Amino acid sequence: METFALVADRLWDGRGDVAREGLAVLVRGAQIEAIAPLGEIPPRAAVRRFPGCTLIPGLMDAHVHYSTVMGPAFLAAGVTTIRDVGNDLDWILGQRARHAANPRIGPAILCCGFLLDGPKAYWRHMGRAHASAQDVRASVREEAARGVDAIKLYAGADLELIRAAVEESRLVGKPTLAHLGPLKAEDTARAGLGEIQHLTGCGAAWKDSTLQEKDALIDILLEHGVAMTPTLVVWDRLGRILDPVFANDERRKWVHPVFRDVWERYLTRSGPPEPRLKLQTVVPWMKNCLARMSERGVSIAVGTDTPFPHLVPGFSVHDELAQYVDAGIAPSVALRAATSGTARVLGISGQKGHLAPGMAADLVAVRGDPLKRIEDLSGVEATVRSGVVLEPAALLESLQATYGSIPEDTITRDLLGYVNRA
Ligand SMILES: [Zn+2]
Repeated sequence: METFALVADRLWDGRGDVAREGLAVLVRGAQIEAIAPLGEIPPRAAVRRFPGCTLIPGLMDAHVHYSTVMGPAFLAAGVTTIRDVGNDLDWILGQRARHAANPRIGPAILCCGFLLDGPKAYWRHMGRAHASAQDVRASVREEAARGVDAIKLYAGADLELIRAAVEESRLVGKPTLAHLGPLKAEDTARAGLGEIQHLTGCGAAWKDSTLQEKDALIDILLEHGVAMTPTLVVWDRLGRILDPVFANDERRKWVHPVFRDVWERYLTRSGPPEPRLKLQTVVPWMKNCLARMSERGVSIAVGTDTPFPHLVPGFSVHDELAQYVDAGIAPSVALRAATSGTARVLGISGQKGHLAPGMAADLVAVRGDPLKRIEDLSGVEATVRSGVVLEPAALLESLQATYGSIPEDTITRDLLGYVNRA
């Protein structure tokens, strides 16, 4: 194992407010050996230079439904770790192992297994129905025994099911998260739920709320230590699903044709305009609420809900962060959320999310300085995952080689089922 050095114009460690100059990252194997002044690069070390670039920690996406045809796109966008929040249990455990063994095929994966739903599973293949508290307890025990990283509850679960799942998850030492249906975030926080997806149940985010209303919600989230994965970008894209800007997005080359087809046929497009118009109104309210959550210190994980409409795997993390900045959140705060902040929510901050000796060698070299201009994230020069340097052009080639056949996986089956329902 030879030590090599990564050198860019600037380095941002994932925790501070600004990038620093004159530093090299020394990588040995899959880990960072040291962060050293340029003058202290060992004379024999190979040096990879990225002129005009900033080195930052690998980005994370905490809300994905993974398909194998996404791996290279995530890496090309600088996303080195994802959390799958709903998939077939056996399949995703297999992918997690494959990706742990081979950093070239895609990001590191954390996973939840099935979406644990109420009496009827909304998603036929990635969901699992539970008629009683006893049923959901059995699922939690089974998934925990198989080694999932967290337990994901879905919209049909009522408060009784959430309570039972949270209690059982605590017994087996797993964190819980949920996409809430009609439940209130305040009630699930009191029930001990650890993390909320999509701002569901957060009434103050879905209306033009007063500061007092936002703070009343935030007080409870803070009191119970509830983290938030807002996924603004999926609401924005569903609201603007007909906007031609997305059809013309040149980053679509990173999207397998089967998902592009699903986006074209997604049922929200063909239905009445009111739900879309409602979302267009709500997203700015959500942004105001998120800005206040960020200001008051609610733990935030960055997630997207890839591959729902117009969410290009990996690149949609850039889009999500652009939404944060549009909400008035500083680029450095948004970037912290996508790196060290998400790592904390995912429980992996000892290995990932910031750059320091002993941490995973997961980094991105981006042209420009995204701490000043978040749009600079789009200029990924190279991604380093577990010490392996990967370039977008080669990643695109490997990805496009998969475009000839339809992936045999759960998210593809469920999304095709959804668009064929009409
Ligand atoms: Zn989802």
